[in-house]
Amino acid sequence: MKGLMQDFPLTLHHILWRMERLFGAKEIVTWQPGACHRYTFAEFTVRLRRLARALQRLGVGPGDRVATLAWNGYRHVELYYGVPCMGAVVHTLNLRLTADHLEYIMRDAGDQVLVVDVSLLPIVRQLEGRMPSVQHVVVMDEPGSPVPAGMLDYEALLAAESDTFDWPTVDERSAAAMCYTSGTTENPKGVVYSHRSNFLHTMGLLQVDSVGMRESDTVLPVVPMFHANCWGMPYACGMAGARMVLPHRQMGDAPTVLKLAADERATVMAGVPTIWMSAVELLEKSGQVLSDVRSVLCGGSAIPRRLMERMDRVGLRLVHAWGMTETSPMGTLANPRSWHVGEDEFKVRLSQGMPSPGVELRIAHPETGVALPWDGVAFGELEVRGPWVAAGYHNDADAGRVTADGWFRTGDVASISPDGCVSIVDRTKDVIKSGGEWISSVELENAIMAHPKVLEAAVVGLPHPRWMERP
Ligand code: AMP
Repeated sequence: MKGLMQDFPLTLHHILWRMERLFGAKEIVTWQPGACHRYTFAEFTVRLRRLARALQRLGVGPGDRVATLAWNGYRHVELYYGVPCMGAVVHTLNLRLTADHLEYIMRDAGDQVLVVDVSLLPIVRQLEGRMPSVQHVVVMDEPGSPVPAGMLDYEALLAAESDTFDWPTVDERSAAAMCYTSGTTENPKGVVYSHRSNFLHTMGLLQVDSVGMRESDTVLPVVPMFHANCWGMPYACGMAGARMVLPHRQMGDAPTVLKLAADERATVMAGVPTIWMSAVELLEKSGQVLSDVRSVLCGGSAIPRRLMERMDRVGLRLVHAWGMTETSPMGTLANPRSWHVGEDEFKVRLSQGMPSPGVELRIAHPETGVALPWDGVAFGELEVRGPWVAAGYHNDADAGRVTADGWFRTGDVASISPDGCVSIVDRTKDVIKSGGEWISSVELENAIMAHPKVLEAAVVGLPHPRWMERP
């Protein structure tokens, strides 16, 4: 017997519908020199229609790739929505990569249009003559930085269009966005998100036992928008109706980030540990309290114990999460359960946490692939599956990363407690085997970073005549 419910498409258009119909007065605030740029979701959605028309006029059609090379700003959010909702694919380029890597990535993705922040044009100049698929370069300018000849002006393109555009019907399984993971030794690999995966990932982020973004939140993501969907924040804010505050190119500047958080009364922030290391130092010195912030999502690498303690002392609660570009990125999140009390609670907060609703995981023996017990002791390669986990890479790269029974091999080494709490102990690439025994480089790094004079540490394995490998 077939279920008789509507097969409503899980596409980003629904988030757009909510932004326009329910939360039109909510703001997107972007840092810029002088005063912040501000506009409402209503104004945002009007500009999206102009953007869609402009891209269509440039020849962008269903499935075509529109690359972005940009900081965290409102126009980048426009591309996050406008490109997939017109049926094309938004491909965020990592501005920290070398020109060689970017060239490889753009060729592999077959990008047709490149939209770039004017401050990042020096990167594009290095790529001149090396982007054969790119037909148009569109520049997002700033006052006093004109658009070079031969390139198009983003604002002029939008200004030339009307406000009306009928969003096409898009298959929920079609590609919405792309992001490359930059391997250290191999070529970068393209992760391709679908409308459906982004929709469901957004729903995952809104769960109260997850990040739990809500309408009353003001969200300040200090996560680059070129990295893993900006941890899904732009879509989650749209779905929930939360106010967005974007630090643009000041992302790495802790004083500006803290000023934005205070001035705009941020309630949720997100970023990697390095960001909070600089921030906590400033807060300790100044005695400033960010009393509106209820949650600071932190992942990308393990949170050192001392950082979490220091953040607790200045009144900022770090919520540890684990994920990957290939997992959209949310995989696990460390919100302690009701039974995690006392020292247990802190231990869980420091771990990578429990799988998000929608994500299943297991650990596998690195050599045999046999599933290992969840006893908090055995560790093996972490494998995940779920509707926002990669089923493969663009152009079939690295096909061996997905097991025959459909689990994605993360390359992370973890143990799992009986109640499902994940502790990442290492990565398969980095693992140090000393005298036949595994040594966790992460644990060593954390121990070293617990020293008050050490800010960051990295532990690597070196060949050793007796032990085979030593850290
Ligand atoms: P990326 O695809 O660049 O986001 O990198 C994903 C990788 O970062 C994971 O496979 C982990 O190795 C690492 N990572 C992410 N979050 C954490 C975390 N909370 N703790 C430890 N490692 C992490």
